[in-house]
Amino acid sequence: MDKNISSIILSLVLFLFTIIGCSGVNFFNQKKLNKRIDFILSSIFSFMIMILLIYLLPEVYHCLGFKNLYLFFIFLVIGFIIMKTIDHYLPNHDYHQLTKNKIKKNYIHISLMCAIVFIIYNIVIGIELYNTILVSTNESIRITISLSLRNVFLGFMIYSMMNQDKYSKIKKILIIFLLSISTFIGIFIRVMINFNNIITSGILFSSIVGLFIYFIIDELYRRVMPKIKKKETIYGVILGIAWLLICSTL
Ligand SMILES: [Zn+2]
Repeated sequence: MDKNISSIILSLVLFLFTIIGCSGVNFFNQKKLNKRIDFILSSIFSFMIMILLIYLLPEVYHCLGFKNLYLFFIFLVIGFIIMKTIDHYLPNHDYHQLTKNKIKKNYIHISLMCAIVFIIYNIVIGIELYNTILVSTNESIRITISLSLRNVFLGFMIYSMMNQDKYSKIKKILIIFLLSISTFIGIFIRVMINFNNIITSGILFSSIVGLFIYFIIDELYRRVMPKIKKKETIYGVILGIAWLLICSTL
């Protein structure tokens, strides 16, 4: 099959699975789901740490090796700073300075941050997916199945975080739409700019590590850790780990 057609089909699959994840939220009682915020946050927390350990760090090492490890640190810091800058400009940023009423609004802040992290992450994944399509169709199908399952999880968790507080429907749809097509954007960029260089991939993944680390430390860690002994938090952590392990066995 033509490489461009197969990449459009694969990104369509990824698009659909994100939407499926989001629509899944409607099958749950929203009020009950709002009480499960600790569960949602802790599942994303462990899910992201697992992506970091199982995919991102080994990928960085594979691309850069020991020789270019300095590039990893440089671009990790750059990714970290980019995320910190974005964080600063999003509304309801500082959790500790918020009144009780506004802490609820802070969930919109976290969900926005989370969506942005994964939109950028998916764009990079799209670039890499196209590189894989060029080499092996079967391998790219396997990766797409695994990514689809991740998208169901992310769609569900991000969308239910956004539902924690009144948030305009148009904004919600726009963010979910961007999240769903982000892999396609990556594929599109890769088709437009013809680069297939292992060092470039290493640099891109290193910056993603920076984004992840910032988000995990600044937004998730300080919310999840104080409640780590709560049942809901423990279940959430287990779900995040289990879900990613299932994705990676596919
Ligand atoms: Zn923030």
